[in-house]
Amino acid sequence: MEKYERHQFDVIVIGAGGAGLRAAIEASSLGGKTALVCKSLLGKAHTVMAEGGIAAALAHVDPQDNWQTHFRDTMKGGQFLNNWRMAQLHAQEAPDRVRELERWGAVFDRTTDGRILPASR
Ligand SMILES: Cc1cc2nc3c(=O)[nH]c(=O)nc-3n(C[C@H](O)[C@H](O)[C@H](O)COP(=O)(O)OP(=O)(O)OC[C@H]3O[C@@H](n4cnc5c(N)ncnc54)[C@H](O)[C@@H]3O)c2cc1C
Repeated sequence: MEKYERHQFDVIVIGAGGAGLRAAIEASSLGGKTALVCKSLLGKAHTVMAEGGIAAALAHVDPQDNWQTHFRDTMKGGQFLNNWRMAQLHAQEAPDRVRELERWGAVFDRTTDGRILPASR
């Protein structure tokens, strides 16, 4: 007979890229006993290949940057096929998430005066 173990969790997150890891951190920090499942090695996800930049309207170089512009660009770039609510949440949340990544030790390119370097348009 096949032997297997049973485990009990409040939350099971499938996928250990950036999205899954962030979801697991949130679930765990809210007190849920959390499991993370991925089909490959932990850390082997598309997320670790993304070195080109991360879109977030930080507005610390161009004061006209804001989440509405980011939202509009995202919808336009997606030929308006995007789920608009997800695109809105993404644009609104992105600056705080980038600052959070920075607090957690992510290394970003810098401007000469030490701010996160915005991507050129
Ligand atoms: C080469 C490259 C460069 C990129 N550069 C950029 C960039 O510069 N800027 C940018 O914003 N985006 C970039 N992207 C896109 C970005 O990496 C992805 O949009 C983002 O990482 C997706 O994150 P995710 O957590 O949703 O998925 P992933 O990081 O792909 O994680 C998916 C996870 O799910 C797991 N999984 C998949 N199927 C199963 C299954 N059936 N059962 C269990 N686990 C499963 C995988 O093992 C993995 O752990 C790039 C992508 C690539 C490939």
